[in-house]
Amino acid sequence: MPELPEVETTRRGVAPHVVGRTIAAMRVYDRRLRWPVPAGLEKLLAGRTIERVDRRSKYLLFRLHEGTLLVHLGMTGSLRIHRHAPARRTHDHVDLVLDDGTTLRYHDPRRFGAILWTPAQEGEHPLLRELGPEPLTPAFDAAYLWRATRGKRAAIKLALMDNRVVVGVGNIYANEALFRAGIRPGVAAGRLSRPRLARLVDAVREVLTEAIAKGGSTLRDYVDSAGEPGYFQLTYRVYGRAGAPCRACGSPVRLLRLGQRASFYCPHCQR
Ligand SMILES: [Zn+2]
Repeated sequence: MPELPEVETTRRGVAPHVVGRTIAAMRVYDRRLRWPVPAGLEKLLAGRTIERVDRRSKYLLFRLHEGTLLVHLGMTGSLRIHRHAPARRTHDHVDLVLDDGTTLRYHDPRRFGAILWTPAQEGEHPLLRELGPEPLTPAFDAAYLWRATRGKRAAIKLALMDNRVVVGVGNIYANEALFRAGIRPGVAAGRLSRPRLARLVDAVREVLTEAIAKGGSTLRDYVDSAGEPGYFQLTYRVYGRAGAPCRACGSPVRLLRLGQRASFYCPHCQR
């Protein structure tokens, strides 16, 4: 599933090819995504210029004149730039054809992604309104996380993965950040001291920044490439390593189920 680093890499991969371009035509081959692609969107978008491409949580925001196109990649969605679009393949659902002939193509085998429209320039879509801060912005700091977790009995890992607390920290990155911060995933969020939360904030930033940096090497794959998106992986320290020796101390990594998600931790390094 594309996580924040993959979505951010997609943004960096496609933005240089679409910003400043005008949409000549939108072609929808299948509207049945997670929510239907709005009827009449083709007419609405034609002739509009893409001013910017932003990201909020895992949504790509194509800022047009007076309106925003929201794109979510769901579980298997991907975007590709084609200078000369090849014949449509199975699961290619939407094309945005730009005024220079470039095509931005949306591909999604499982169709859990979304392509939606909001007239608000700042993307005040209901899906975005309740979201917590971005993990890589100054708004996500120890003081904020401390306030956001006071009185919470929920496990810190679940709090980290809660979009109302902070966006874009999926299962893999939550596991890895907690390991780096030396915090067990099941500890009640409200019991963690401010210094420990400060370490956690740093660890979250670190793992996401490293993953985005890895994605940088795949940027060219967004242009004229027929392949599926590459998932760039960090060398995981605990994620997916139940029973394997901790890379720091050698103790076997443990597996714990928290809110249906697999949590991995080192009983020696994490308290
Ligand atoms: Zn360890």
